[in-house]
Amino acid sequence: MAHDLTEEKVMTTTSSCESCGMPIESGRYCGYCTDDSGALQSFEERFTRMAAWQARRDPAASRQDIERQVLDYMATLPAWRDHPRVQAR
Ligand SMILES: [Zn+2]
Repeated sequence: MAHDLTEEKVMTTTSSCESCGMPIESGRYCGYCTDDSGALQSFEERFTRMAAWQARRDPAASRQDIERQVLDYMATLPAWRDHPRVQAR
């Protein structure tokens, strides 16, 4: 009998948040990227939060560098890759 990969596939089913890339168990977005009603937060909201997070990770970087890094990262995420601010970077 051929090795059945189905079980293995089920075991490793994880998806990632389409807004920030964080691993999640189900749905499209993690709890950090949605508001109380479960709707995705605005671009500005996410951008501000990701910039603050990136600035803590890389305190020596300039504001300009931080914003470019965040936009580069957002360009890899399904929720933001087509956003005008990301496209215009
Ligand atoms: Zn998220």
